[in-house]
Amino acid sequence: MIKQVAVVGGTHGNEFTGIYLLKKWEAEPKVITRPSFNTETLFANPQAFSQNKRYVEHDLNRCFDQRHLEDDSLTSIEQVRAKEINALLGPKGQPRIDFIIDLHTTTSNMGPTLLITQKGAFYNQLAAYISMEMPEVIISCDEDHKANEDHHFLSSISKNSVMVEVGPVPQSVIRHDVFEASEVMTHHILDFIELYNQDAVPALPETTDAYRFIKSISLPVNDDGSRNGMIHKDLQDKDFTEIKPGQPLFLTFDGEVVTYEGEKSVYGSFINEAAYYDNNLAMSLLEKITLKTY
Ligand SMILES: [Zn+2]
Repeated sequence: MIKQVAVVGGTHGNEFTGIYLLKKWEAEPKVITRPSFNTETLFANPQAFSQNKRYVEHDLNRCFDQRHLEDDSLTSIEQVRAKEINALLGPKGQPRIDFIIDLHTTTSNMGPTLLITQKGAFYNQLAAYISMEMPEVIISCDEDHKANEDHHFLSSISKNSVMVEVGPVPQSVIRHDVFEASEVMTHHILDFIELYNQDAVPALPETTDAYRFIKSISLPVNDDGSRNGMIHKDLQDKDFTEIKPGQPLFLTFDGEVVTYEGEKSVYGSFINEAAYYDNNLAMSLLEKITLKTY
């Protein structure tokens, strides 16, 4: 039974959609509660927001593995904030909050995406339900083989959680379509939790198409580590479309086309995500999978 839900926004300070959705819901809290559970909101990184940055010192959404939370020597702004949030919503391992919905946006052309970081019948049913109610949503499973305590995401504080990831939208920008998709998907997630709690989940499709993270790949770099290339124009904006062996991935600044050299087709996500320029990541590679509902 899920009794306490937290909707979190602004984990990344320049992803404005979640921050303004929280303001909307805080003005009318009843729209995000349901009869069988309470919902609260949390603005995760207001300091980064006030500086119009993703984070001040460390990416807050990488600060929540158990080891980091217990390490008192970690004292950056985000490491301290992570401990505060863990005290507010957790503590991780024995959390007050049963389910976290963490709202994110991406500069990549991913459309509305539901990121799932755990396995199990609950998530397969949730994925099927969201796909049925909102067919444009992409289901993406991200390191769902890992135990919750090993995840470093904010959402891993609670035993169950998802991330809502919608794009494309530039950093520090609000787009109506992205705002609306984030809002509608969150309502469907809350509706599913209510149906699950009431043992009233309707008949769902037997299977759901989804993607699973394989690995991240980097942009071409020079020997000194400096960037030497960009996403190839044929791949730009083609998130969740097939990348075949031999297909262009990058164009280097000296004009060389770098192709995908894997043995079988993969799919890309977070293609040319602006936030990944910090460490020269180019995209995530995914495989296509089928989730069985029952
Ligand atoms: Zn984010």
